[in-house]
Amino acid sequence: MSDKYDLVVIGGGPAGYVGAIRAAQLGLKTAILETRDKLGGTCLNVGCIPSKALLQSSHHYEMVDKEFEHHGIDVSGLKLNLETMLGRKQKVVDDLTKGIEFLIKKNKIDYVAGFGEIAGPGKVSVSPSKGKKTQVLETENIMIATGSQVTPLPGVEIDEKQIVSSTGALDLAKVPKEMVVIGAGVIGLELGSVWRRLGANVTVVEFLDVVLPGMDAEISKNMQRILKKQGMAFKMETKVTGAKKAKAGVTLTMEPRDGGNAETMKADVVLVAIGRRPFTDKLGLDRIGVTVDERGFIPVDEDYQTNVPGIFAVGDVIGGAMLAHKAEDEAVVCAEILAGQTGQIDYDSIPGIVYTHPEVAAAGKTEEQLKEAGIEYNSGKFPFSANSRARCNADTDGFVKILSAKDDDRVLGCHIIGPQAGDLIQEVVNVMEFEGSAEDIARICHGHPGLPEAVKEAALDADGRAVHI
Ligand code: FAD
Ligand code: NAD
Repeated sequence: MSDKYDLVVIGGGPAGYVGAIRAAQLGLKTAILETRDKLGGTCLNVGCIPSKALLQSSHHYEMVDKEFEHHGIDVSGLKLNLETMLGRKQKVVDDLTKGIEFLIKKNKIDYVAGFGEIAGPGKVSVSPSKGKKTQVLETENIMIATGSQVTPLPGVEIDEKQIVSSTGALDLAKVPKEMVVIGAGVIGLELGSVWRRLGANVTVVEFLDVVLPGMDAEISKNMQRILKKQGMAFKMETKVTGAKKAKAGVTLTMEPRDGGNAETMKADVVLVAIGRRPFTDKLGLDRIGVTVDERGFIPVDEDYQTNVPGIFAVGDVIGGAMLAHKAEDEAVVCAEILAGQTGQIDYDSIPGIVYTHPEVAAAGKTEEQLKEAGIEYNSGKFPFSANSRARCNADTDGFVKILSAKDDDRVLGCHIIGPQAGDLIQEVVNVMEFEGSAEDIARICHGHPGLPEAVKEAALDADGRAVHI
């Protein structure tokens, strides 16, 4: 293995491994460092992939338990085998992470297992696992792709058994009777849904007065209503002030956000899901003079270069939406710029998806953002209850909302609650990227009967001419 590189990538998550592959495709001699024992980062190991595997399994379980009889399918003796469910999830993770290792090899990238530290200009030292010698890699450029970690909540210490982060919540040995989720964000609602479907009583405690803050307000409000209907309980505008652990469970103390009497709540398992923060521990940023902002994120310019020439950063560690596809796209652009090409990302049309059931998907501006910016818009809406495919599927909760500019009809935003919302939004994202209009979507032929017809009808409704409502 040669130590002289064009690019050393620190971190093997979606940003790091994709950036390394693109750089290698463009002929850059590349190495990738990863400190955990597998490539794939948070997303593949303890994030997107295991959570979606469990969401799928738990959805099947709930469907059989609650929905099959309406289809005339009687199932008796339904039993949960949690060990098998968790084992399947782990196999999905293991297969995919092995796949990444294969891709790294295929692209002739040097994979160095160990913790990377920037030792000086053009130098990265790697401390491998026990028993091996530290090595120093020399490189023209460094791409920091070290991702993020769980934000701790003072007074509620995570032990990954009784008080868990998302990582522990992906591996509970048994279904808790009572589960409290702190934070009604994406992780709280996704993993709260998994354990509720499997039989836990789930209460979500949220500091704000809305779930999924930042989403279009109509989406947040309706999603909370739907989740309540499914049996999830909410305690809003509440702050958790401490946790006491005993063998029998955890007692949380909490109080109303705006003042009032404190109260306690008991749980077998508490999930802390109040956000994630950038991970730059022991990376040597101080030594080399790379600045971080007040929240620890690494600021970069339009080429993803930090304030130090030759040191670039991409993915969760630079802030913005903490999403795997955003991280990947940044890494691709950064690698292409390093290889002498140009590129940029349209941050306005990055889709965000919450994989509850129904799913939530959003891209572009919310109504609140458009109002605040003083942009005049049309809003077209169509409920899944009026979509024939959703009715065939008995899956009618939710709606599609398309926001288009009043002057030229250009699509500015799309917000969906509904079955396969995460897939449905991609059509709108594509139209947004080509600066298309609601009329464009409305004029495109959509297969029948199909869920995408709800997108078409919402687009028609932006001009007041939806057909099926
Ligand atoms: P990471 O994936 O965090 O990868 C960084 C890697 O760098 C890590 O493996 C870390 O070990 C390594 N590293 C750090 N420091 C060093 C060092 N000094 N030397 C060597 N290695 C180092 N996003 C979605 O888009 N869709 C989803 O469905 C989704 N679900 C999620 C579910 C959960 C439970 C969680 C926690 C996150 C989820 N996310 C999802 C977010 C997604 O995981 C992140 O946005 C994404 O992983 C960011 O990629 P990254 O490469 O920037 O960082
Ligand atoms: P989040 O930012 O989505 O939600 C955190 C929630 O916790 C917010 O509603 C916030 O108001 C609340 N909160 C903060 N402090 C609190 C406190 N002290 N008490 C009660 N509530 C409090 O964060 P997350 O759910 O932890 O997810 C972290 C990141 O992971 C997100 O940025 C998300 O993009 C990413 N992620 C994405 C997906 C997906 O794309 N499907 C899935 C999981 C995670």
